[in-house]
Amino acid sequence: MALDNYRKKRRFAVTPEPRGRKRPGSGHHYAMHKHAARRLHYDLRLELDGVMKSWAVTRGPSLDPGEKRLAVAVEDHPVEYNSFEGTIPAGEYGGGTVMIWDRGRWLPEGDPHKGLAKGHLAFELDGEKLRGRWHLVRLRERDRHENWLLIKGDDAQARGPDDNDILQEQPFSVVTGRSIEEIAAGKGDRKGKAGLAQHPYSRSADTSSIGGRTQREKAAGRHAWRRGATT
Ligand code: MN
Repeated sequence: MALDNYRKKRRFAVTPEPRGRKRPGSGHHYAMHKHAARRLHYDLRLELDGVMKSWAVTRGPSLDPGEKRLAVAVEDHPVEYNSFEGTIPAGEYGGGTVMIWDRGRWLPEGDPHKGLAKGHLAFELDGEKLRGRWHLVRLRERDRHENWLLIKGDDAQARGPDDNDILQEQPFSVVTGRSIEEIAAGKGDRKGKAGLAQHPYSRSADTSSIGGRTQREKAAGRHAWRRGATT
């Protein structure tokens, strides 16, 4: 079964992660988790056949089409995982803090099963932070992991090498507005209690978030830009 690996790696009496189950139907949820484990990374998740196909993007996504980011295929996750934000206890699989960095929908170009089989998945993201065309391109197999590259398509959402890094510009949870440190400390939801319960498709009703960016993120972006401009 598709979630066997996911379940085998976790002790659900200890971790707050959902046990989850395979979902009927064919939804197109998309999520990107920011995961401060032994090494900070980002987990790309695309719903296919009732589960979330998942890749650990070691350096996170880039909006620069010239930046190819290593994306290691990992075990399928349940769709319920898209709503998970919290801390996995130290010593457990993936121990560390997990943030919902982005979420929304994805749209494959062509048959995604064929794309995955041939090692080139072209798709569109409709998230709150990541949008437009993207590519996952498989490298040769190494060990039991499949290494892919995550590459931004060259479109209106693309940025150049000298533009702001979206990871610096928009570092907070798209659902609760919290930083990794605030999630780790168990701080409250900055966007109000409804945040985590919101339907994944719904846009945030938070008035401090304009165009998907919070005031804090805009401030962070300005700082990042200033740093970039002075160094
Ligand atoms: Mn991870």
